[in-house]
Amino acid sequence: MRRVTRVVIIGGGPGGYEAALVAAQLGGEVTLIDSDGIGGSAVLTDCVPSKTLIATAEVMTEVSESAELGIRFAGDLRVDLEAVNQRVLELAAAQSADIAERLAREQVTLLRGRGRLDGTEAVIATTEDGEQRLPADVTLIATGAHPRVLPDAVPDGERILTWTQVYGLTELPEKLIVVGSGVTGAEFAGAYSALGSEVALVSSRDRVLPHEDADAAQVLEDVFTRRGMQVLSRSRAQSVARDGDQVVVTLTDGRTVTGSHCLLAVGSIPNTDALGLAEAGVELDDGGFVKVDRVSRTSARGVYAAGDCTGVLMLASVAAMQGRIAMWHALGDRVGPLDLSVVSSNVFTAPEIATVGMNQQQADTAVPKVATVTLPLEGNARAKMQGIRDGFVKVFCLPVTGIIVGGVVVAPRASELIHPLAIAVAERLTVDQLAESFTVYPSISGSLAEAARRLHLHGQELRGS
Ligand SMILES: Cc1cc2nc3c(=O)[nH]c(=O)nc-3n(C[C@H](O)[C@H](O)[C@H](O)COP(=O)(O)OP(=O)(O)OC[C@H]3O[C@@H](n4cnc5c(N)ncnc54)[C@H](O)[C@@H]3O)c2cc1C
Repeated sequence: MRRVTRVVIIGGGPGGYEAALVAAQLGGEVTLIDSDGIGGSAVLTDCVPSKTLIATAEVMTEVSESAELGIRFAGDLRVDLEAVNQRVLELAAAQSADIAERLAREQVTLLRGRGRLDGTEAVIATTEDGEQRLPADVTLIATGAHPRVLPDAVPDGERILTWTQVYGLTELPEKLIVVGSGVTGAEFAGAYSALGSEVALVSSRDRVLPHEDADAAQVLEDVFTRRGMQVLSRSRAQSVARDGDQVVVTLTDGRTVTGSHCLLAVGSIPNTDALGLAEAGVELDDGGFVKVDRVSRTSARGVYAAGDCTGVLMLASVAAMQGRIAMWHALGDRVGPLDLSVVSSNVFTAPEIATVGMNQQQADTAVPKVATVTLPLEGNARAKMQGIRDGFVKVFCLPVTGIIVGGVVVAPRASELIHPLAIAVAERLTVDQLAESFTVYPSISGSLAEAARRLHLHGQELRGS
């Protein structure tokens, strides 16, 4: 008789819980240890809460920009932030409970506490009942990450906040200073601006979203500014201090910005301390992230890692896939290595920015040359009807074959519109195949098919060049 494989997972975020479901499905005896709540930061403090807050912000944006569509309302349009945050926290808690229930149904043993490796073949779980040693044939580290703070900008949970602390606010910040213009900073800056706060966005780079498509980032920065946000580019925050009911952000060039609240969005630090990793032979990189290969193996036999603690690509979807791959590999199922070139991701601003596959920078330097078409949405019939002016679709394809290798959508609900391009990139579909499929008239996705049609000719031009 085959001995059951004992799987112990440390961390109950998407990296951990998705792995647990796969391991249970494949007949493993699975124990999952989590210190802060099933669902991890993704469900309790990061993705789920922020996107729930943003759902309210989206409605505010739509309503406040609906005059052109003939909508008139008397009186103030106002957000009750206490009610919004209560909904956010309830929804996150319910989502966490749903996941815990599903895991229990699949016979996964859940332990509330902290886990650490005891060599490569056991894990020590510290719970309120004390310590227990759990023998393990396979271990997965999926401990996530926590917000980075600056030495001279220590959050107080009241007015100087990390993104995990904003849901305690009962009143809308009068003036919110967001430090950091990456995805998290841009999403919160956009959301609070839509909710009614005055917002200043402190960005150390030339433009917001320095790692996203430059054309998309420019659209967003223009929209932010048009809506009244103060975007301070090439401005690095040195310190953040309380001054009574105010916060003062001092920039490295000596300028100061004053507001009622400050949100720090300056990146994440992996949770890899005190896990017994070095003793077990698990190597970390210079940033403290666990080094893994494309099937999530660490440098120690039988020990896998997934999610933000690996720093591979800090997305819930990638964490989940790394966790599943680890278990498919460890438990002998069919498995392919993680392929980041097919990952789609989204910035939840208004408009949203969704991307998949090759980016503009890679396209510009690719050999052979990659063909690109960008279609602004202002020419799209549905966009005109809906009063949408900001945004575009962009498609990248290989010359000769016309295989789609990447794309960008900047539009409301771009997160939903990117899927045809994600399928095309994953399945190596050609622009002609995308162009020949029907789109609804009128629809924003019609612009995706139109871009593909235009690339048919562009591909020929490149062929001749
Ligand atoms: C504001 C914000 C918004 C985001 N929005 C999105 C989004 O919309 N879409 C998206 O794809 N990604 C989003 N992300 C990224 C996403 O949240 C992370 O990539 C995801 O949470 C990573 O999952 P994980 O399983 O690696 O870790 P986590 O979700 O962080 O879970 C790790 C868990 O392990 C626990 N843990 C840590 N150490 C131990 C220990 N020693 N013992 C036991 N338990 C331990 C932690 O408490 C935590 O519960 C967002 C991130 C932020 C900051």
